[in-house]
Amino acid sequence: TRRPLVAGNWKMNGSLASLAEVAAMGGAYDVALKARVELIVCPPATLVAMAVEVATRLGIGLGGQDCHVDASGAHTGDISAEMLKDAGASYVIVGHSERRADHGETDAIVQAKAAAALRAGLTPIVCVGETRAEREAGDALAVVGAQIDGSLPADAPDTIVVAYEPVWAIGTGLTPTPADVAQMHAFARERIEQRLGGGKSVNVRILYGGSVKPANAQELMSIANVDGALVGGASLTAKDFVAIADAY
Ligand code: 13P
Repeated sequence: TRRPLVAGNWKMNGSLASLAEVAAMGGAYDVALKARVELIVCPPATLVAMAVEVATRLGIGLGGQDCHVDASGAHTGDISAEMLKDAGASYVIVGHSERRADHGETDAIVQAKAAAALRAGLTPIVCVGETRAEREAGDALAVVGAQIDGSLPADAPDTIVVAYEPVWAIGTGLTPTPADVAQMHAFARERIEQRLGGGKSVNVRILYGGSVKPANAQELMSIANVDGALVGGASLTAKDFVAIADAY
């Protein structure tokens, strides 16, 4: 069975003072909750190493928000998967729609980043999701299917995580209907199976992301094939983030 994963994506938010929030998350992440749900935080890269100091002893994992495809070299401003691993991270988000939009990341780049993460011993959280226009045109499944084909390394192990984040649901307070989430996640698992083969998709965790809040977490997380959440805004405060995890 797939262990639910609730991941907090802090995006470009957080300062040293925010480490108190990580400590508070740990305080509320009790034995019973730990038994049910894996909790990780993905702060900005400036905070990863120090967040590890706070989080690890509380049972919370750390992730980066992006990585370069190379291990090292002349790439000013970039951070490699190996560096995140060295700082104590165990996960890295790749292909978030904000990276795809702001930095022109294609499926091929995202796939190379996922491969880089695996090479470094990190678990990639590969993000996919359609825009509003694509959903309205009836293309949501086709778009996400193509992103899965193009963004997952064909030889990825079943530990890889996929996050379905409809772009129009991110930061908007809007969410797809439970029926639409169920359809997409079932479809995504089939497509992951086609891509990876060997029955691996049974173990791949598929997260839902986009306006996950304490108030809607229970409904979203009870949907078949939803194996956790990738949480943006509501992951910035311990109270909301732990309440979402507690929805499991
Ligand atoms: P929000 O939870 O703020 O909608 O963001 C979702 C997201 O993009 C997580 O990666």
